[in-house]
Amino acid sequence: MPAISPNKPYRIARSRTGLGLFATRAIRKGTKIIRYFGPLLDSRKEKDDAIENKYLFELSNRWTIDGSVRENIARYINHGCKPNAESDVKPRKRKVFIRAIKNIEPGDEISYDYGTDYFKAYLKPIGCKCDACEKKRRKKRAEARAERLRLREKSERKARRLAEKLAKDHAKANVKLNGKSKRANGSHTNGSRANARHVNGKFSNGHDPAAV
Ligand SMILES: [Zn+2]
Repeated sequence: MPAISPNKPYRIARSRTGLGLFATRAIRKGTKIIRYFGPLLDSRKEKDDAIENKYLFELSNRWTIDGSVRENIARYINHGCKPNAESDVKPRKRKVFIRAIKNIEPGDEISYDYGTDYFKAYLKPIGCKCDACEKKRRKKRAEARAERLRLREKSERKARRLAEKLAKDHAKANVKLNGKSKRANGSHTNGSRANARHVNGKFSNGHDPAAV
């Protein structure tokens, strides 16, 4: 890792996507943080035009900065969809500075928007992993979880209601059935009431088995 002078307000550290540049001190909105630099490539030169890497910073149709050099600490700054910095391009000077667009707290990762072309070419195919996109993804996942839970609870409620209804219907049917059978028994007992009386008579005669 390239050495960074201790009076700089940033350091290279591990981030979600590999390495990143992090504030070591508060950086006020509007402050130039670091220069993005490297050899200037001239698109009119075949040799320059053939160079291809992820750190090319196009200044104009003709000029591009090749930021892949080790000394270019700014190349550690990751892309952010809701960044706290921006690239401030000075085409005539052929210089680029990364500038804070928000107050940055110590420990915050510094990010700037790499632009649509880079996003389409490198980030969209693998899914952007910047804080904003991760947060969005987390929110979507939480919403999907909540929706699944809601649907499950709904189907459980439905199943419970159905079970309750079935139990009620069953109970009703039983009541009806019992009623019928009682009536049937009733008429039967009515028929054998004489027997019962007879039995009672027997019992009253002192042959009550319960009394024995
Ligand atoms: Zn993103």
